Amino acid sequence: MSKQNTEKEKWAQIERIRELEWTTGKYYVPRDAIPRAIPAGYVLVHNSVPHSVNTLSSTNGFLGWFQKPSDRLKACTCGWAGLPHYRVKRNVARA
Ligand SMILES: [Zn+2]
Repeated sequence: MSKQNTEKEKWAQIERIRELEWTTGKYYVPRDAIPRAIPAGYVLVHNSVPHSVNTLSSTNGFLGWFQKPSDRLKACTCGWAGLPHYRVKRNVARA
């Protein structure tokens, strides 16, 4: 595959992710990255996969994303990324 085609495919993939994000309202942290800032109007959230304060998103199933604030989220104190953030409540009914 030529370099140009690879570049085209890369952008096609980014476009598909953007579409998914638009549909779900979740904006994933780039692969193998740690967020350094939170977009205005959004909160930082991560899933429940075990991680340390500097685990990169997409490592062993650990994922971070930005979304609009929701009452399905709970403030998290794990220290990940050094930013205030949330995790998804385990039991929404009892929360
Ligand atoms: Zn956390």
